[in-house]
Amino acid sequence: MSHEDTGNRISVDVAMKNLVEGNRRFVTGNLSAKDLGQDKREDLLKNGQHPFAVVVTCSDSRVPPELLFDQALGDLFVIRVAGNVLDAVPLGSVEYAVDHLHTPLVVILGHENCGAVHATVEGGDPPGSIGAITTLIQPSVDKVRAMGLDGHELCEKAADENIRATLKDLENSPVIKNLLDKGQLALVGAKYFIGSGEVVFFE
Ligand SMILES: [Zn+2]
Repeated sequence: MSHEDTGNRISVDVAMKNLVEGNRRFVTGNLSAKDLGQDKREDLLKNGQHPFAVVVTCSDSRVPPELLFDQALGDLFVIRVAGNVLDAVPLGSVEYAVDHLHTPLVVILGHENCGAVHATVEGGDPPGSIGAITTLIQPSVDKVRAMGLDGHELCEKAADENIRATLKDLENSPVIKNLLDKGQLALVGAKYFIGSGEVVFFE
């Protein structure tokens, strides 16, 4: 066990409830009061972090997890990468949180109108290292395109498929599989709707 394990591990159910209720506050504009002051910061420094959820989401400026789940300092362990895809480096961040910090819930949060998904649908040869992202999204686009979809519907269904593919990538991690087998971890997909502010969790 890590020295950072306080034994006060929050349950998956409570973690989910925190996110669902936080998003409801965000949607309705009833935001909770947050302690961002000196005492809180010093407490987090002294006692370390115990985030209750890991959120893997897109870098899109309209999708900040702490705001849309109405959470505060120390609550969420966030990995943001365009298109919410995982290769070794961001996957290592998730593994660190669940294995070392014992965070019990990982959310893969995609969103509507995702530029990374759109770029993948458009195809071509993106400049620089952008292709490293679209290559990871491509199988999801191919799968949905094979169903005969195109245009906006293709982009949105591919975004959904990409969330599921990222969940699969997590399940393929031995570190994560071990915790899933022991019942100490849950994974869930979700999609954020930019206009309404609503997060819809996958079944
Ligand atoms: Zn995006």
